[in-house]
Parts: sequence; C-alpha cells; structure tokens
Amino acid sequence: MPGDELDTATSAINVRRGETIANASVVALDGARRIKVANALAGPAEVVLDVLGYYLPAEQGAGDRFVSLPPARVHDAALAAEGLVPAGGDRIISLAQSVDGAAGKIVSFDEREIDFDLLVTIPVHMGADFVGRSGLGDDLNFVPVDQYTLLSKAHDNIFAVGDASDIPASKAGSVAHFAMDLFPDNFIAHVEGRPMPNAFDGHANCFIESGHGKGMLIDFNYTTEPLTGKYPLPGIGPFSLLKETELNHWGKLMFRWMYWNILLPGKELPLPALMSMAGKDTGDL
Ligand SMILES: Cc1cc2nc3c(=O)[nH]c(=O)nc-3n(C[C@H](O)[C@H](O)[C@H](O)COP(=O)(O)OP(=O)(O)OC[C@H]3O[C@@H](n4cnc5c(N)ncnc54)[C@H](O)[C@@H]3O)c2cc1C
Repeated sequence: MPGDELDTATSAINVRRGETIANASVVALDGARRIKVANALAGPAEVVLDVLGYYLPAEQGAGDRFVSLPPARVHDAALAAEGLVPAGGDRIISLAQSVDGAAGKIVSFDEREIDFDLLVTIPVHMGADFVGRSGLGDDLNFVPVDQYTLLSKAHDNIFAVGDASDIPASKAGSVAHFAMDLFPDNFIAHVEGRPMPNAFDGHANCFIESGHGKGMLIDFNYTTEPLTGKYPLPGIGPFSLLKETELNHWGKLMFRWMYWNILLPGKELPLPALMSMAGKDTGDL
C-alpha cells in the first residue's frame, strides 16, 4: 500500500524473544517503495520477509483490489549481507523488484515505476561476515573500538585496526596507514600496563580523479572537514586541497609508484600520521 510514512502506530507482528512466528501483515510503502521493519525486542531479530501481493492504488480505479503474487523473498536474515534487525532498532528494506536499464526504470513489486537517468545504488556497507560470527562486531559487523586508541570497547585485550573497526572515519587505506603509524607504541604500552601515548585523530588523505586530466585532493580528520589550501608543503604544495588541478591528477598517478615501492614494502612514508592545519585555509572557520 503506497503512502508517505514508514512508521505505523501499532505493531504488526507480536513475538516474544526466542519464539519463531510466521504471520502476514499489510504494510504501507513510502514513495521510494520501501518498508521499515522495527524490532522492539531486547535482542536482535532474525526476519524473513516474503511479498505475497499488493493492493492496486485507488487512483488506478480499482480501490482495494488485492493482486496476489508468487511469494518473493525480499529479506532473509540468514543472508549475511542483510543481517539481523538490531534490538530496539530498525531496517529499511526496498521492495524495488527489478531494474530496467535500457528503459531507465526501477520497477517495484506493485508494478509502479520510477524513472532514472543515472542509477547509483549503494548496498548497505558492512564489515566482514567472520567478524559478525565472532560476536565482536556491531549490527554492521564492525568492531566497536575507542576511536583514539583502537582498543575494543568490549574486550581489554583486543584491538581492531583498519576497515574492521567502527571508527567514524573513511574506510580508506590512508586512514589504516596513519592509524598504524601510531598503533605499535600504543600496543606495547597497553601490553605493559602503561597508558597509551598516542591518540589517533581519524586522519584521511585521498586523491579524487575528477576527469579531463584533473584531480582533487582532500585531507581531513574526525573534527576537521576537508578545507582548501596547499599540501604537503604549506603555501607551496605542489598539490591543491579541494580544488581540481592537473597537478593533483599527476599526484594520483605518482601515488601508484609510491604504493608499490614505498607502502607495500613497508618503507617510511614521509607524511605525518596526524592531520596538520598548516597550509589549510581557515578563514571561513
Ligand atoms: C575498489 C576500491 C578502491 C579503493 N580506493 C582507495 C583509495 O584510492 N584510497 C584509499 O585510501 N583507500 C582506498 N580503498 C580502501 C582501502 O583499500 C581499504 O580501506 C584498506 O585496504 C583497508 O585496509 P585493511 O588492512 O583494514 O583491510 P584489507 O586491505 O581489506 O585487508 C584485509 C585482509 O584480510 C584478509 N581476510 C579476510 N578474511 C580473512 C579470514 N577469515 N582469514 C584471514 N584473512 C582474511 C583479506 O583477504 C585481506 O587481505 C579502496 C577500496 C576499494 C575496494
């Protein structure tokens, strides 16, 4: 039933923790053909959803006529990519049924169509299945850690580094690299029972190809969004932050050599691990 609201006032299916319940429910879709599955239990819920049919919209002159479909599975908790509905949380599930690229249309289960010129679909970004199975991960299979030390919030003897952690930074090789510059001293101090000396700031640094022989460069951290300026030498560059330049494009190409000859062999990259404000335009801050 198409509508505008994803929330309903009453619960559609009542289940106690540990029970398995099969039930049918009529739910409203929003304008993007999605439903929200909310879980009020104290633990995560394994939800399997099948679409059995739809009501024809009143504007098509058919009022409440129900059109049945062969049951089509649109969500299965057993598939790791979709996962569980977290305790007290919810999951938005799209009922788009198919994409007709040639005609530029997304078709939903109720046979409505949404036109597109360019479709960019992004699946839920999740961590590795084995992290989920280990019990160390959150609802998205990322390991909750202290964002400054990467020490697990649940276990005093586990760190999660790189993409596996839930730090509020880009999932980027640069973030993993800068964090690892600071990590060994922290690790040794922690094992020896001393306070960890380094606090990672979420430093990220990425070239972004923008086409036509030009590129951009961004440099930011947990608290400072990308700013304009020069990098790595303040005032000199040669790279320009947050601007499209040919030199940035050449920097990206040069980075290929650095990747194979400096990063992969584990040699020192002559860039500071923590983000520097030197060279950044702070006039608007
Ligand atoms: C297409 C693409 C483009 C990207 N471009 C950029 C970019 O331009 N700049 C940038 O900074 N970042 C980029 N990234 C992100 C970057 O690659 C990652 O952030 C980075 O590799 C994370 O490093 P990691 O060591 O945490 O994880 P990974 O590099 O993913 O390493 C994890 C390793 O664990 C292994 N593994 C998995 N499961 C198991 C298991 N059960 N047992 C043993 N080993 C296992 C995997 O095989 C892998 O080798 C890009 C990523 C992608 C996918």
